[in-house]
Amino acid sequence: MLNRQAVRTTINDNYPVVCGKDILPEIRNFVRNQEYSKAMIVADRNVYEKQTGFVHQVLSLFKDPHSITVKPGEESKNLSSWSRIVAWCLEKGVDRNTPLVAIGGGVIGDLAGFAASTVLRGIPLIHIPSSLLAMVDSSIGGKTGVNHSTGKNLIGTFYQPVAVFGDMKLLDTLPEEEFINGFAEVLKYGAISDPVILDILKDRNIPELKGNYDHLESIIQRCIKIKVSIVSKDTREASDRAFLNYGHTFGHALEKHLGYGTISHGQAVYTGMLAAGYLSEALGGNMNHNLIHQHGLTMDVPDQVLDVTTQELTAAMGHDKKRQGNKLRFVLLQQYGRPYLQEMPEMDTLNECWEKTLQKLKEIKTR
Ligand code: NAD
Repeated sequence: MLNRQAVRTTINDNYPVVCGKDILPEIRNFVRNQEYSKAMIVADRNVYEKQTGFVHQVLSLFKDPHSITVKPGEESKNLSSWSRIVAWCLEKGVDRNTPLVAIGGGVIGDLAGFAASTVLRGIPLIHIPSSLLAMVDSSIGGKTGVNHSTGKNLIGTFYQPVAVFGDMKLLDTLPEEEFINGFAEVLKYGAISDPVILDILKDRNIPELKGNYDHLESIIQRCIKIKVSIVSKDTREASDRAFLNYGHTFGHALEKHLGYGTISHGQAVYTGMLAAGYLSEALGGNMNHNLIHQHGLTMDVPDQVLDVTTQELTAAMGHDKKRQGNKLRFVLLQQYGRPYLQEMPEMDTLNECWEKTLQKLKEIKTR
């Protein structure tokens, strides 16, 4: 089953988001319809090494292809990597119609996307996401950027790709912990918009989904549909797009407090969703916590989290980037599928939610 969805934005007319298994023919058709005289391919080095055949097939679709690899990992998402890509593009003589093709996870997508948006004030960008997170989230919606010593994703642009091609075959070589990392975002989509996702995942062993293309595809398609629908309505994160941050205000605080790298982003978002679930309930939401809690063992949140105090966590929340003025906003749920925005609740309520979250994690770990 191949599914094509289109993102409509106020900036570009439209761009296709295609996801399926073995979708090179789709990429070929797309490229054939463009008049590209050359192409710049930026690939994650792990993906290049583990999916060499695929990357070479992509290269062969273009006239005069050039390729460069980037060292894997968040450390590469910086101005120096951006500068290297931009310089390479200019030295190869790109023009405004030369596409930059990003093959990799969210790091490569954000970094190469930022380069594409700035070279010659913007050259076409094609995303070929290779991680689960990139397929369901980061490749769609046009946020690009790099990190700065003062914080993550602080330098960047809103710049829409001309197409997104997610080939699930690439997930075969994605490490299991990265698959699980992306899975937190899948749960998030289930929570904010499509509880059917939570039902499909009920009692499932998540790592086994990796090779189960039929099931995986239906889940990925549902997630893409939600992201497409939200960003089509809100390209610059002015309203509904904020719902995509469910669990993130809590999760960022935890990541920040523990130090980046101690906990994966997926584990932090997962923990954040536990806390957001409790806060939603405290403010009147009707939650079936177990739909999220049952994946606790799979998410395997590190033990260090249990040593953190609620006071430390609430203090770390004071620095969240998603603050509006000096107000911290939370995405909460009336029930699964019905999100809303809530300004800072009472400090005691917040502390209680953290307390319940830490208690639940302890329970999960001793199960
Ligand atoms: P990542 O890009 O670092 O990839 C994770 C790891 O998996 C890397 O080591 C990579 O080499 C490896 N990998 C990826 N695909 C592989 C494959 N098919 N085979 C083998 N190895 C593979 O991390 P990620 O989780 O994909 O993305 C995280 C980044 O995305 C963060 O920088 C985050 O800020 C960003 N992000 C951006 C948006 C957005 O809207 N732009 C949204 C969410 C996250």
